[in-house]
Amino acid sequence: MSAECVKVMVRCRPMNKDEKSKNCQSCIGIDKEINQITLSKPGESDKQKVHTYDDVFAPDSTQQQIYESTAFPLVESVFEGYNGTIFAYGQTGCGKTHTMMGDPSDDQNKGIIPRTFSHIIQVIENESKKEFLVRCSYIEIYNEEIHDLLSKDVKARYELKESPEKGIFIKDLNKVIVKSVKEMENLMNIGNKNRSTGETAMNKDSSRSHSIFTIYIEISEDDGKGGQKIKAGKLNLVDLAGSERQSKTQATGDRLKEANKINLSLSALGNVIQALVDGKHQHIPYRDSKLTRLLQDSLGGNTKTIMIAAISPADYNYDETMGTLRYASRAKNI
Ligand code: ADP
Ligand code: MG
Repeated sequence: MSAECVKVMVRCRPMNKDEKSKNCQSCIGIDKEINQITLSKPGESDKQKVHTYDDVFAPDSTQQQIYESTAFPLVESVFEGYNGTIFAYGQTGCGKTHTMMGDPSDDQNKGIIPRTFSHIIQVIENESKKEFLVRCSYIEIYNEEIHDLLSKDVKARYELKESPEKGIFIKDLNKVIVKSVKEMENLMNIGNKNRSTGETAMNKDSSRSHSIFTIYIEISEDDGKGGQKIKAGKLNLVDLAGSERQSKTQATGDRLKEANKINLSLSALGNVIQALVDGKHQHIPYRDSKLTRLLQDSLGGNTKTIMIAAISPADYNYDETMGTLRYASRAKNI
C-alpha cells in the first residue's frame, strides 16, 4: 500500500471557556494554503515546530467542510467496493466526538457519522440499475473487551473470531439492515444511549474506550450475461480513546490497567499505520491489539484511511498537542 492511501489531517478547535478564563494564549498557527501547522513553545516564541499534513482545519472550520474533505470521498469509494476507515485521534476534550458525532439533532452541528446517512441514501435513490443492501453495527472496545452497543446487554463481551470465508469477525455481532436515514439515526441513537448506560453499569469513562460505527454496503448489478455481479465495501467510523498520558502518580489499580491498555492499543494502531505507510515492513503487527485485528481488512491493501488529529489551540495543552502532532506525523512517515 502506498502513502497515498493514508491521509492525515489536523483539526484545531476554538479556545474554550476554561482556557479563556485561564488567560491561555494560542500556541498554534495554521496555514491552510500549504497545509501547515506551527506549534510554538510557550514563552519561547523562537522555538517553533512546523508540521505539514494532507489537510488542516482552523477553529472556524465547519462540520460540513470537514465532511466534504474526509468522509465524502470515502463513502463514494465504499460504493465502488473499497473499505475505508476514519479515525479521530487526540487528547480528551479536543473535539474527537464533536468531529465524529457532533450534535446529531442539529443540522449545522452534526458530525461525520450522522452526515453519512443522508449521503448514502441519496446515492442509492439516484441509482436505478443496481440493488443495495446496507447494514450497520456499532461497537465499543473498552479494556481490550468488545461490547455491542446495539445489544440489550451492554456488559456482554463479544469474541473476535477468524475463518477462511469471513476473515476476522465478531461472533454474534448485530449487523442491522437499514433502508432509510431514519432507521440509521435510530440505530445510532440506541448505540449512543447504550454507551452511556454501559458507562454507569461498568463504572467507566467513555474517553477511555474506542467506539466504531461501521456501515456495510453490498451492491449487486447485472453482469450482462444473465447473472449478478456483487461488490461489497464498508466504512469504519472510529472515535478513539483519549490519547493523553495517564499520570503515573494518579492512576492506580484498575485505572492503571485501563491506561496501559489504551496506550497499548493507540501505539499498536500507530505502529500498523507506520508499517503500512513506509512500505518496508514484511510483517504488519495487526495482532497487537483488538482494534488493529478487527480493522485488519480495512487497513492496508486496497483501502482508504483518514486520520483526523484533534487539537486544542491553548498553550496550556502544549505538551499533549505536541504528542498528538507527532503521532499524526508518524502516520504520514515524515
Ligand atoms: P473529545 O471527544 O475529543 O473528548 P469533544 O468532541 O467532546 O472532545 O469536545 C469537547 C468540547 O468541545 C465539547 O463541548 C465540544 O462540543 C466542543 N468542541 C470540540 N470541537 C469543537 C469545534 N471544532 N467547534 C466548536 N466546539 C467544539
Ligand atoms: Mg469524546
